Amino acid sequence: MSIRSSALRMSCCIAVPGWLLAQAQPVPQTTAKPGWMWTMDSARSVVNAVRAGRSLQPAKWPNGARAAVLLSFDVDNETVALRFGEPTVGALSQAEYGARVGLERIITLLDRHKIPATFFIPSVSLALTPSMGDLIKRSGRNEIGVHGWIHEMNVTLPDSVERRLVKKAIDELTKMTGARPVGYRAPSWNFSPNTLAILRESGFRYESSLMSDDRAYELLQNGQPTGIVELPVQWILDDAPLFDPVGARYASPRDIAQVWIDEFDKAYEEGTMLLLTMHPHISGHRSRIVAFELLIAHIEAKGAGKVWWATHGDVAEYVRGEAKLGDPRPRGK
Ligand SMILES: [Zn+2]
Repeated sequence: MSIRSSALRMSCCIAVPGWLLAQAQPVPQTTAKPGWMWTMDSARSVVNAVRAGRSLQPAKWPNGARAAVLLSFDVDNETVALRFGEPTVGALSQAEYGARVGLERIITLLDRHKIPATFFIPSVSLALTPSMGDLIKRSGRNEIGVHGWIHEMNVTLPDSVERRLVKKAIDELTKMTGARPVGYRAPSWNFSPNTLAILRESGFRYESSLMSDDRAYELLQNGQPTGIVELPVQWILDDAPLFDPVGARYASPRDIAQVWIDEFDKAYEEGTMLLLTMHPHISGHRSRIVAFELLIAHIEAKGAGKVWWATHGDVAEYVRGEAKLGDPRPRGK
């Protein structure tokens, strides 16, 4: 039991010391100056470090499709347990399910429906189970993107380490898959102060970890266009928080399928896109595959050609072309 919950329990019947009450309503412990003490210039410069630029929502999708659907699978497997350096056998086995069972079940479903997807893979995950590369490449429809080297918490790393791991991840994925990745997804969906600069120097054409829109947009760095396409994600469109069986927010897979269906229906109505993130070690389980099948059936019921199922890379290049964005701009140009 935590100090916080015991304080709440005791407060009904005995005198509670002041320090314990303070625990019941925790104040963030930080040396940072709170926002109310900032100048407007400080607020602007922090907000502008990485911000959404112009919308890259196209006037039309290819071949008269009404909306685009982008499926991502973050193939984290054991790297989430390994990254902090204190893995347990149980956690590793839970994660190994993705490599051993989940991925194949997902690929089989995608192939049955001839649906392409993008697989963001930490290179350690692929090195631990290299057969996953052949499985993903089997249909010739799928894309592989960078997802850190070992799913490292990039926000906590010094510039030189983050840079070295991104380079290593690109080099190893290129070697293992035979193609240089063009897309990046940050482990745990966050940027350090150096991440965007590293992505620009590494030649990425698109990024998919931020959340300013549900349509594609251009990333700005300190107010300047970068030419990098952002394909935004959202926690409500990620399986990890809601499917966590030991988490406080667990939801039934069929209820989650309804969230995905509602998100798709609005995207279809607005002519925009749905980007859904899943993990083989989470969504590869049987009851979750049922939820994914419900979504696919709902989308396919719109009729042939009504939806553009595409990889992230294909959507990024399509919106780049439609918006006449040009190539990503190296820093300082
Ligand atoms: Zn991940």
